[in-house]
This record gives sequence, C-alpha cells and structure tokens, in this order.
Amino acid sequence: MSSKKESLSCSFCGREKKDTNVLIAGINGHICDHCIRQAYGIVVEEMNTKEHKELSQSLRLVKPKEIKKFLDEYVIGQDEAKRILSVAVYNHYKRLNAIQKAEVKEAEVEIDKSNIMLVGETGTGKTLLARTIAKMLNVPFTIVDATVLTEAGYVGEDVESILTRLLQAANYDQKAAERGIIFIDEVDKIARKSDNPSITRDVSGEGVQQALLKLLEGTKVNVPPQGGRKHPDQKFIEVDTRNILFIAGGAFDGISRNIANRLNTKAVGFHSSKDRESFDEMNMLQYVAPQDLKSFGLIPELIGRIPVITHLNPLTREVLREILTEPKNAIIKQYTQLLKMDGVELDFRAEAIEYVVDKAMEFKLGARGLRSIIESILTDAMFELPGEVDEGYTLIVDEDYAAERINKMSMKALKAVS
Ligand code: ADP
Repeated sequence: MSSKKESLSCSFCGREKKDTNVLIAGINGHICDHCIRQAYGIVVEEMNTKEHKELSQSLRLVKPKEIKKFLDEYVIGQDEAKRILSVAVYNHYKRLNAIQKAEVKEAEVEIDKSNIMLVGETGTGKTLLARTIAKMLNVPFTIVDATVLTEAGYVGEDVESILTRLLQAANYDQKAAERGIIFIDEVDKIARKSDNPSITRDVSGEGVQQALLKLLEGTKVNVPPQGGRKHPDQKFIEVDTRNILFIAGGAFDGISRNIANRLNTKAVGFHSSKDRESFDEMNMLQYVAPQDLKSFGLIPELIGRIPVITHLNPLTREVLREILTEPKNAIIKQYTQLLKMDGVELDFRAEAIEYVVDKAMEFKLGARGLRSIIESILTDAMFELPGEVDEGYTLIVDEDYAAERINKMSMKALKAVS
C-alpha cells in the first residue's frame, strides 16, 4: 500500500512525489508544481503574443478630431494644447503604422518623431492629458518624475529605469512597450542652473538631460525587467526606444520672465511700444518658444528632440467649476457614486460648488486642491453615515455645510493633502 503511494509521480516530467512540493491528481495522471509553473509561463507568453497581434491590428489610426473629442470628455478647456497634442500623436502613430506596414525602415522620407513638451502651471492638466491619450490609444503608458532621475552611477534612479517601468506597464511585452508613451513629469527641474554651459558643469541637471537625450533620439537599451541591481541573474530585455512617444511636462516656474524678455527685446527692435502692450501678461506661457526653454536651462539638443511645444492655460473660476461637475469622471460624480454605495444620495448644491471654487482660487491649489477641499467637506459624512441611515437618505451640502467643515481645517492641512 505505502509502496504504491511512493511511486506516484508527475505525468509530465516524471518527478517523483517526494521531489515535488505539490502533486495534483487528475483523472488519468498527475501534475507537479514545477510543471504547473512552466505551463503557466507558456500560457502567459502565448496570450501575450496573441494580444500583441490583436493590438497591432487594432492600432488603427485615430484622426486628430477624434482624439480631441475623446480628450474633451475628460479634460476641460486647454483647447490649444489638445489640438496640438492630437496632431502630434496622430502623426506619431501614422509614422509608426507606415514603418510597420511597409517594413521599409529606410522609407523615401524619414519622418521624425514628434515628442511633445507641455508647459503649464502645476495642476492644470498636463498629466491628465497624457494619461487620457494613452487610455484612448490603449498603449502602455508610464509616468516618471524627472527629479528622481540621475546619471548612471549616482544615487537615485538611472534613466534606463524608465524603460523598466514601461515594460511593466506593457506586461513585459517588449513589442508593445516599444510603441508606448512615456510622460516625463517635472522636466523643468533638471534644467541646468546657468544658461552658460562653460561656467561650471551642473552634473545633476545636465547629466540627466544628456542621458534622456539618448532615449529620446532612439537607442537600444538592455533593460533589467525587475529594475535595479538587486537581481543580478535576471535576463535583460532589449528595448528599442525609437518609436516610443515621449511627452514631457513642467511648470517652468519663472519662464514668463524669459518669454517677456525675448518678446520685449524683439518689440523694441522692430516695433513701437504699442506692440509690446498687446501681449497678454496674465498668461505669458502662450508665447512659449524653444528659445525660452533654452534660456531656462534645457540643453539645445534635448529641445531639438522635442519639436512640439505647447502650453496649458491657468485655470479660471469657470474651468474649476466645470472640472468639479462636467468630465466623465468629475470629482462630484465620483463622490456621488461613493456615497451611493452606502445608500446615500448626495445633493451638492450649486452654492456649495461656488464656495469650493472660491476656496480653490483662494488657496491657489489649482484643480489639485478641488479634490482635497471636497474630501474635507465630506469626510464627516463619509465617517458617520455608513450603516446609520436608511436607503434613500439624502445628504444636502449647501454653502453653510461646506463652510463649517472647511473652517475646521486650516489651509496648511489642505495643502498637505493635495
Ligand atoms: P499637472 O500634471 O499639470 O500638474 P494634473 O494633470 O496632474 O496636473 O492635474 C491634477 C488633477 O487636477 C487631475 O487629476 C484632474 O482631476 C484635475 N485637472 C487638472 N486640470 C484639469 C482639466 N483641465 N480638466 C479636468 N480636470 C483637470
């Protein structure tokens, strides 16, 4: 009897039961944990290839107008940025499709990549735009913070780690990753501190810019799939960055001065002072040009690799109000949904919306502040009501209700949440 038990073995690899961790019995055989793992790997790989095939077929060209329309559902205002972004993304994927279809990598005219620079104050929707585009195109997307990047060999993340993240987002499908989108946030923070490169080399900023430049130009990088140096035995995956679309974003605090200087010098040289007055001083970012990025401290080679530059407008009261209520996943809609799960109907009155907008303007937190303000207003209710009220209970939030909650919180605390 016991000898029969000992002779049990895996029908796939022949391992005896004692050499396995788990041996699962089927109708006519057994399978061990090793084989299950191996089979699972094969299944995942097969599925990825299949998905990838479907993906490449589905990479149909979405027309700029369609892209813009999709963006309109999620992002309020910022019309110019949307138009420019839609065209750049359309051109990028047109170029990609052409390469893929014809397989003529040396086509008659080589179309350059249209990497994009978004210049705009914090909280105006730069990340949201990039994220929404990626959602629409169904391509792998990752966000990296330029401030944590360092040159290879320094403490911090190597620039190559960006690709590890993209690979992870692509579920390790190298081909999908190679046409993904990378959003580099806070790119202004790696500006070199002096406009004159000959004075001192600013290692932190310029070195990272140089390293980024390589990725933007298109290069093949051996990427450790798990990132870092903690797994020395991992297999490297080669990622070609030639067709990855890079979208860079930054607030470029103080760039308005560079823009104004450039415009004024020009105006003095060629026009009367009347022309100078025609600039909209409240929103100088709309005149941003490559020269301004250079005088801000980005190296010309990098700027050259990001040919599309656009700006985001500061958010007005009207835009803030719309952001609260209009987009598909508007903040008020999200909280209404959350409370509904507890059987609570949220009636957020127009006067309370106005109050929230007032506070967001007052605290200068942009759209980022809206969520934390709403959160503070509703925290009491979200704590007290679940389980305590009957289905169909309505929570009325008017100006007094909102003000009472907000006054309890200091502005400092609100800033900390946002
Ligand atoms: P940025 O990257 O410019 O600092 P984000 O895109 O991260 O700003 O915006 C922060 C949040 O503010 C977003 O999650 C979004 O909810 C909201 N938001 C900002 N701008 C807009 C906009 N134009 N339309 C809709 N929501 C916006």
